Amino acid sequence: MTKEDVVMVLREFKASRIYQGSLDKGADLVEGLSAVIKQQHIEAGMISGIGAVSEARLAYFNAQTKLYEEKHFKENMEIVSLKGNISFKDNSIFPHLHAILSNKDFAAVGGHLLPKTYVYAFEFEIIPFEGKSFVRGFDEETGLFLWKK
Ligand code: ZN
Repeated sequence: MTKEDVVMVLREFKASRIYQGSLDKGADLVEGLSAVIKQQHIEAGMISGIGAVSEARLAYFNAQTKLYEEKHFKENMEIVSLKGNISFKDNSIFPHLHAILSNKDFAAVGGHLLPKTYVYAFEFEIIPFEGKSFVRGFDEETGLFLWKK
């Protein structure tokens, strides 16, 4: 592998704005963030947030089976860190979100954040990127929808 082969996909963007906001108690976290970025026409960018959930659904991608294994956490947990990016998937603006959550024992779980995760309180920042956004396409080798070249 040469030095030029190390980065698979790379693009330069400019950022000049930052949104900061919150979602209401009871909101679907993924659907809520998705609605914000669609309303603001944010086609590329990054998302971060902290807060708490009343219940959560996380997924783990099993590279052996190439399937997502889902787990439902039916308890109040802290959102220690939510992080994500924005690009296109299936001709639609798509937020890809991961989260680390902690429980009453201060133990953390984490994974790919799924819809039907409900907000107890949530504060976020979104940084829109100006430039040609990435488009996701199915990658046979990994079984994932990755950014196309
Ligand atoms: Zn993911």
